[in-house]
Amino acid sequence: MGENRNFSRRGFLRSSAIGAAGALMGTSTLANDSNRIRKEPVIIKRKLGKTDIDVPVVSFGVMRSDNAALVKSAFEMGFVHFDTANSYQEGRNETMLGELFKSYPRDSFVLATKVYPDDIDRQTGAMGPGATKESILTKFETSLKRLQMNYVDILYFHGVSTREVALAPQMLEAFDELKKQGKARYIGMSTHQNEADVIQAAIDSNFYDVVLTAINFKHSQADLIKQKIAVAAEKGIGIVAMKTMAGGFMDRERQRPINCSAALKWVLQDTNIHTSIPGIVAYDQMIQNFSVMESLELTEKEKADLEEAKLVAGLYCDGCSQCLPQCKKKLPVHEYMRAYMYTYGYRHFDNALTLLQELGGSSNPCGDCRVCTVICPKGFRVAERINDVARLSDVPRELVV
Ligand code: SF4
Ligand code: SF4
Repeated sequence: MGENRNFSRRGFLRSSAIGAAGALMGTSTLANDSNRIRKEPVIIKRKLGKTDIDVPVVSFGVMRSDNAALVKSAFEMGFVHFDTANSYQEGRNETMLGELFKSYPRDSFVLATKVYPDDIDRQTGAMGPGATKESILTKFETSLKRLQMNYVDILYFHGVSTREVALAPQMLEAFDELKKQGKARYIGMSTHQNEADVIQAAIDSNFYDVVLTAINFKHSQADLIKQKIAVAAEKGIGIVAMKTMAGGFMDRERQRPINCSAALKWVLQDTNIHTSIPGIVAYDQMIQNFSVMESLELTEKEKADLEEAKLVAGLYCDGCSQCLPQCKKKLPVHEYMRAYMYTYGYRHFDNALTLLQELGGSSNPCGDCRVCTVICPKGFRVAERINDVARLSDVPRELVV
């Protein structure tokens, strides 16, 4: 595993960003010639498997950010790797990044995006006849146009939840073609359901360069996923972690935040995980995430905070799928739980509404089903949560975007 820890700054790093960062980060100090003490971020880098990408262990999940100034500050502070997707904010996320990065040298940042084909069943994750190679190629061309780039560094097959989908010949053909054309330097797949099987499929495929997987201290399958991650990393697959904050809050009212530094450290202590993409929407959050590189050791208080958070149901559904055969209406319960987390954990109504519309847009999905038969191992009262979040479907989009 290639890891290095240094204090080096990017050549274009702006003193204003450093000043602001250092003041908050409590990092190593440098004396400048006017005797003022400035602080410089500590950066731990890991190589992304067998790729030539060597990035800080903390990267920038852009998904929920629509603030180009924030992303620019992150870039100038030392963030290198930015993660978006074709579907985020109906394309505005990619467009924002394209506008921002067009004025920087293409090799000064690492850009990852994701596409998924049409006709994916939200309940089973299976592909229908509309899930064609062409749908991938068409969507990715749109992504490149929005990004104003000739290529991306990592192109993920977005949201894979079964082995069959991971290895679907028409998908592999599409991604292989894009790689050979030089439009995607590396191919990955992202997974936030049935992760262990999907990572195993990546290992067996001899095709995927990178896996982006959900992993956090509250994940019920964390040990198994980490075992698969170890095997994949050993094989040279780059590993990127997402959903590291486990929903961000323990409660719907957002009165009990999860200790995000502790949650991120928990993930990054595993050196088989090469970088992480916590979603960032605010400056102080950006500083807080970046500062975990000062020390990945958990303090006693941080350990206690994580233990406490593990005991409550919280907002994070880890997609274990146990609810799916139990629901009388065969609802994709895990997807509604994701919309619930977007709404109450992240306050990201835009993403929640997009997801709800993909699920059919009903504001009363349970309908006449009066007695809920679903028992969720996390203790979620799923019918309550579904009907709570589904109300958002009735809100006009212009009021939430
Ligand atoms: S709602 Fe509960 S049972 Fe269903 S996938 Fe999420 S954690 Fe598993
Ligand atoms: S109440 Fe809703 S979630 Fe529960 S079984 Fe009925 S349809 Fe499924």
